[in-house]
Amino acid sequence: MFEYAPAPESRDIVDLRSSYGLFINGEFVEGSGTSFKTVNPATEETLAEVATATSDDVDRAVQAARKAFGVWSALPGAERAKYLFRIARLIQERARELAVLESLDNGKPIRESRDVDLPLVAAHFFYYAGWADKLQYAGFGRRTADGQGGTRPLGVAGQVIPWNFPLLMLAWKIAPALACGNTVVLKPAETTPLTALLFAEICRQADLPPGVVNIVTGAGETGAAVVAHPDVNKVAFTGSTEVGRIIARSVAGTNKKLTLELGGKAANIVFDDAAIDQAVEGIVNGIFFNQGHVCCAGSRLLVQESIQEELLAALKRRLGTLRLGDPLDKNTDIGAINSAEQLAKIRQLSDLGESEGAERWSPACELPGKGFWFPPTLFTGVAQSHSIAREEIFGPVLSVLTFRTPAEAVEKANNTPYGLSAGVWTEKGSRILWMADRLRAGVVWANTFNKFDPASPFGGYKESGYGREGGLAGLEAYLDV
Ligand code: NDP
Repeated sequence: MFEYAPAPESRDIVDLRSSYGLFINGEFVEGSGTSFKTVNPATEETLAEVATATSDDVDRAVQAARKAFGVWSALPGAERAKYLFRIARLIQERARELAVLESLDNGKPIRESRDVDLPLVAAHFFYYAGWADKLQYAGFGRRTADGQGGTRPLGVAGQVIPWNFPLLMLAWKIAPALACGNTVVLKPAETTPLTALLFAEICRQADLPPGVVNIVTGAGETGAAVVAHPDVNKVAFTGSTEVGRIIARSVAGTNKKLTLELGGKAANIVFDDAAIDQAVEGIVNGIFFNQGHVCCAGSRLLVQESIQEELLAALKRRLGTLRLGDPLDKNTDIGAINSAEQLAKIRQLSDLGESEGAERWSPACELPGKGFWFPPTLFTGVAQSHSIAREEIFGPVLSVLTFRTPAEAVEKANNTPYGLSAGVWTEKGSRILWMADRLRAGVVWANTFNKFDPASPFGGYKESGYGREGGLAGLEAYLDV
């Protein structure tokens, strides 16, 4: 077998500062809390010191957003669109810089940040820019001459996002909010604040009116302060079901509008008539993309019993070709685990899988000496009762279960407290439709997986949360209709 020569992307394009402040009212300001370090998970090297926003700082940010709401919501939609188009183009112009920074701070392979995250980030801003002047035609009713009916922005949106797709989740949150005329206070995850701060610079470059976008960094407490602030009208959260519950409780009884995008334990279902090689690619993409740090990851493979052996042999062969290592190397498939905490969680759940009786397998794979790493792993002989079949591992770990009939596949796929996504692999269109009708999942992919587009709504059932992001449905979350 041939060996790849190292092909690292240069990090010179990123102008890393040693410390970063908060972005409030169009200015970078100091935070009142104790600053924290953000590290490169592939090397454990400190990248920068980042300010912590206390509840006083959050209050300043919300006040700035409130003041800016007067200006921003009064602009004609076409004017707001101009800013959003400008931001989208600046993201494209600075895409390489953003992609390198994302890979440094998050640990994801540059191939993914460059070819998936960044194009989707720009696409979200372009897409919602297109809606800004068409809200009266979005199907929510039109405003009459005397100002009755139609849609109105909600006000200040408090947004809390996770570390798995830092810039993409920012785009999912900020683009529709601004298009609809709201202003925002956004808190990025503690381990991945840097691209949000570079985005703040882009807002300045785009001459966005001060206060329309505010970025407050910090840990969970900062997020809680954003959510609890009495002058926030809308809360949007992506992250764990556990924190989602805390947020739902904190918002209950207020008139804040809430959307929650939480965890998942998706089934990727392969029937005996599926094209095996394509299914193998889809399985790999489903669970090893972004180290499995994906809420809609296909973490449970349900394979029809008659093709189990053939499929697993092909899958193991394919896993043997995955390259794990330097996220900035253009040939890397699997990057670093985002944090020591997440690595500990993946290890703990995988060990539990073994002790509960499932069989563990990983390809021969050398892990770098420094940083947080976990090899691509699959478990066979998994029962539905096993922890690894029920809990979100949020890592490169696949649990393999089998089924005999389509009805059994549906039963097993739906046997989870989550309901975010599912995948179906079969040659028969009728079977795809039959399955899609019965799967309790917000997104069902057929003969593909992890396909995203700003025009298609995304969101879950049950403990995966409520509300939809993306597409026309994504506007509703930011409008009083
Ligand atoms: P969290 O849900 O804790 O983090 C998501 C965001 O919420 C972060 O910005 C976090 O801040 C913030 N936050 C934490 N506590 C609060 C609070 N009480 N009020 C408001 N905001 C808060 O996810 P973790 O990073 O802790 O990951 C834990 C697990 O969650 C993972 O192992 C994975 O299983 C799951 N997860 C699921 C995601 C998904 O997309 N479905 C995304 C991320 C994680 P901070 O970063 O400082 O903690």
